[in-house]
Amino acid sequence: EVTVVRLGHRPGRDERMTTHVGLTARALGADCVVLPDNAGKSRDTIADITERFGGPFEVECSESQKALIRNWEGIVVHLTMYGERVQDVEGEIREEWSGEPLLVVVGAEKVSFDVYEAADWNVGVTNQPHSEVAGLAVFLDRLFEGQELDREWEDADQRVIPKATGKRVEPVEE
Ligand code: SAM
Repeated sequence: EVTVVRLGHRPGRDERMTTHVGLTARALGADCVVLPDNAGKSRDTIADITERFGGPFEVECSESQKALIRNWEGIVVHLTMYGERVQDVEGEIREEWSGEPLLVVVGAEKVSFDVYEAADWNVGVTNQPHSEVAGLAVFLDRLFEGQELDREWEDADQRVIPKATGKRVEPVEE
């Protein structure tokens, strides 16, 4: 089980980023995303995409992301440019994760130090500043060793038929 938690959301300014954290979590193999309470619009968009393109995938809003992190019964990975290099620690994380649920934490603005302390692992996808969406995508792909790319989707209304050129989307027959 992999849950992604999005820390912080500035309505308006962060709308697309928060939505993209959720869509990326879904597309790249996580089971659930937890957004802040004020990110209802992003939650609705992610739920709508899951309805149309399939799951299983859960999207929730929570009042206290910090409490979720503190009380998590499993492993907590916080993605940060200041962390240990993903290529150095991914093997150990994968080994520990085989028995326990994993919580992946991504920030929006400055993340307070208690999150660094609450995490079992602070992990950097390069030690360069970039984006929570990019960091999450690379981390999940490393964690799953690329197997998430072959995932099957359940209860989809429609699916994309891969094509060299053009766009083809077909309804899914039950
Ligand atoms: N400057 C902020 C700080 O010091 O906490 C971080 C803001 S950054 C725009 C938003 C989020 O992107 C971070 O909280 C982190 O989760 C993610 N992020 C940015 N660069 C990253 C990197 N190199 N590796 C992993 N995650 C990264």
